[in-house]
Amino acid sequence: MSSPDEIGASPASKEKLRKLGLARQDDLVLHLPLRYEDETRVTPIAGVPAGVPVQIEAGVVDVSVQFRPRRQLAVLRPRRQLAVHVRDASGELVLRFLNFYGSQIKQLEAARDDGRRLRIFGEIRHGFLGAEMVHPRYRPAGDEDVLPSALTPIYPTAAGVSQAALRKLIARAVSGADLGELLDESWCRKHALDGFGGAVRLLHAPPPDVPEAALQLRTHPAWRRIKFDELLAQQLSLRRAYMARRQKGAPLMRPGGHLVQQLLAALPFALTAAQRRVAAEIAADLLQPYPMQRLLQGDVGSGKTVVAALAACQAIESGYQAAFMAPTEILAEQHYLKLRAWLEPLGVSVARLSGSLKKSAKQAAQRHAAGSAQFVVGTHALIQDGVGFARLGLAIVDEQHRFGVAQRLELRRKGTKDARPPHQLMMSATPIPRTLAMSYYADLDVSVLDELPPGRTPIKTKLVSDARRDEVIARIRGAVATGRQAYWVCPLIEESEKRQLQTALDTHATLSEELGDLRIGLVHGRLKGHEKAAAMAAFAAGETDVLVATTVIEVGVDVPNASLMVVEHAERFGLSQLHQLRGRIGRGEHGSVCVLLYQQPLSETARDRLKIIFENTDGFEIARQDLRLRGPGEFVGSRQSGVPLLRYADLEADADLVELAREMAEHLLCNDPGAAEKHLRRWLGNREQLLKA
Ligand code: ADP
Ligand code: MG
Repeated sequence: MSSPDEIGASPASKEKLRKLGLARQDDLVLHLPLRYEDETRVTPIAGVPAGVPVQIEAGVVDVSVQFRPRRQLAVLRPRRQLAVHVRDASGELVLRFLNFYGSQIKQLEAARDDGRRLRIFGEIRHGFLGAEMVHPRYRPAGDEDVLPSALTPIYPTAAGVSQAALRKLIARAVSGADLGELLDESWCRKHALDGFGGAVRLLHAPPPDVPEAALQLRTHPAWRRIKFDELLAQQLSLRRAYMARRQKGAPLMRPGGHLVQQLLAALPFALTAAQRRVAAEIAADLLQPYPMQRLLQGDVGSGKTVVAALAACQAIESGYQAAFMAPTEILAEQHYLKLRAWLEPLGVSVARLSGSLKKSAKQAAQRHAAGSAQFVVGTHALIQDGVGFARLGLAIVDEQHRFGVAQRLELRRKGTKDARPPHQLMMSATPIPRTLAMSYYADLDVSVLDELPPGRTPIKTKLVSDARRDEVIARIRGAVATGRQAYWVCPLIEESEKRQLQTALDTHATLSEELGDLRIGLVHGRLKGHEKAAAMAAFAAGETDVLVATTVIEVGVDVPNASLMVVEHAERFGLSQLHQLRGRIGRGEHGSVCVLLYQQPLSETARDRLKIIFENTDGFEIARQDLRLRGPGEFVGSRQSGVPLLRYADLEADADLVELAREMAEHLLCNDPGAAEKHLRRWLGNREQLLKA
């Protein structure tokens, strides 16, 4: 068994190591190099190529502290520099240090006087004054000093932990730890994966003949094995969490009956095939004796709300309550109005609970939730203290990625009086790319709405430089003249909410002037709940023509008559944000246009993002590209606390390994639970506890 004491560091360094995630021997073993330096050879000074890190061995000729005139473009350059002239049989070189200690000068002077040679590692550049190395690493070379036989690993580290110390600890851990193979070796060979022990030893100390590119690009079978193991640990822990959940009891429900049929009959539209399929998947889940944990993914506008309402009907018919939690007040309000309009005529009592309600109204709503309400719709106010559900059978979380794990767990904890956790339906319009769904979300069942309701006309996206703002104003007039409405989204100012608000006010004032004869509304995050609701209601009722808004309208808002959206400073928004915003239009039968105003000059990533949003309307494709641009951190942000981010595997590049890891996880859990346990312990140690959340 691993224990923190086995890593053999002093208490002070242990604390620093812990910050690097290094508490156990196994952690050190799996702390792999970022890159390598080749100190296995000595290159003669005359033969060193420029710009490539190399090792040389040379004697010290001269040590001097120089004062350099401050150049205009180098104001930050210290005036004092240490210059060390060194020489080998082939040539001469200057080592230059901008930061140095007195003791360093003494040491170098001693080497000069004794004729001791230095081993120097660095990159040569040919400057104005001849060949030089700036801040090379060096140490005195002993006489019988043999060259290392392996490449020198450079590890990720942090202040206070030197490479040398880390190397020593890791080398000791590698020779002391149990590197025993846990997987079938012939299976590994078949999939170009090295054995575990061999892979670890090779990566910490690669012999110089290992192809450099395969090491650097991490395509070497040793790297593949490590990445595979990492993905396997992730799969195992998520699958185990999934299986553990199945052991729990759940509120027992009946198949959807009369109420479900009544709602279907009352809707002004027929369900799409995708909605029918997904609704059936959920209905079947609700009949299981264990709690559902399903993620419903569907692009913006695919009609998730009605699917959730059908599930709620089934719960309500079975004598339970359903809760529907949305991330913003505007959205909660809109859901409340829509769900009430659908369900109250059928005799369902729908309650609203949001943070902005007056105290007395809130208390009344809380009492309602604890008592007679059958369906409670609200914001995270739903999970606050004081809200006790009498018999919560189904918890629906809309736009689930906007909530943290803790908040979702909180809603699940509400449950029934006999402490059975409710079934949980999570919904998201931020599609999760396949590899991500297979890895980070492997503990969930996933349903996908891959079809938009009929009759939608595709949205046209236009990229327009903000120098052409006048044309955009004219376009708004045109849209309003034909009876349509428009959103004007204010620029995102991430660093300051205050400035963001000011911008919204300014934009509203400017547009009111420019479009004097139109009715301009305004909604932003600082408005009181009822003010936001009023602004949204006026826009939904067609009483305002243009709605100036901050990103508070980003998710869920549904006003089908709005067919034009202008996003100012679109270059400041993220891809999924732009996609979500754009999803506010194109909801009716009218052709819709999204104008993305941008300001020159554009950074390269901004250009990339705008190009992607311009070329794609499919949320899944946009998400895939987003994953490529930003990595998984952004997608799983709110899951982070529970699921460690991958350090080595790359979900895009290593998609084949994700598949393999999933297969192997199933295999181990069924056939070799002991190996599964050992593998998890090796990779996660005590961290697995977190994953059970
Ligand atoms: P999202 O998946 O983005 O949450 P919504 O549930 O808000 O989408 O639905 C978008 C709009 O489409 C709503 O106005 C909704 O009433 C409507 N809608 C949903 N399903 C259908 C359907 N099958 N046919 C026509 N309109 C539908
Ligand atoms: Mg929605």
